[in-house]
Amino acid sequence: MDSLAHSIAEVEERIKSVCLQTGRNPNEVLLIAVSKTVPVERIQEAIREGLTHFGENYLQEAQKKIETIGQGTWHFIGHLQKNKVKHAVRLFSMVETVDSITLARELNRQALQAGKTIGVLIQVNEAGESSKSGLTPEQVPVLLEESPAWPALRIRGFMSIPPYDPDPEKSRPWYRSLFLLRQRWREEFPELDLAHLSMGMSHDFEIAIEEGATIIRVGTALFGPRD
Ligand SMILES: *Cc1c(COP(=O)(O)O)cnc(C)c1O
Repeated sequence: MDSLAHSIAEVEERIKSVCLQTGRNPNEVLLIAVSKTVPVERIQEAIREGLTHFGENYLQEAQKKIETIGQGTWHFIGHLQKNKVKHAVRLFSMVETVDSITLARELNRQALQAGKTIGVLIQVNEAGESSKSGLTPEQVPVLLEESPAWPALRIRGFMSIPPYDPDPEKSRPWYRSLFLLRQRWREEFPELDLAHLSMGMSHDFEIAIEEGATIIRVGTALFGPRD
């Protein structure tokens, strides 16, 4: 096996093994291969090896790659600027990083104009880090309250990026608290489908799965270090 096939198999094995230990079904965990900085040829190789969902952070980089590759399901996972929303709606099936009400409104407007619906997750900045985007937990209900006004958006849940710490156990409290917040918001907004929790990256996805992640975003463990 070449190295990419090997890393894919290894990541899939790790997902299965942690699901088995925690009594979860591996089919409930969607693997997003984060392909920022990864060249087109390697993404095509990953598709041949069976990967289906990819994540990109930068719209311009993503646009070229997605148009060249012409297949796959793409998730946007970076900070989305308002003037790029139209392109994002065309290229991506899901925007995981809705971090303001104005962005949600603009996504809805552009999706309506394009005659599509787009899946979105609300990015929650649990630690209130100024270096990161996202709504504070207090701001989330305000957005959910307005969401019935956005027929072209399908709000599917929440995404978070906890403060980085090399020790993956340090991520656990953040993932656990997002799980609990989501439970509260589900009770508060029973008419909404808030099934997804996108949490966990290469160094901590096992912890995230233990804490209820349904989407994990993995780059380095699949494609190797980015330079
Ligand atoms: C880059 C990135 C990832 C993947 O990180 P790895 O540590 O390489 O797995 C996941 N989520 C977001 C939002 C990212 O920007």
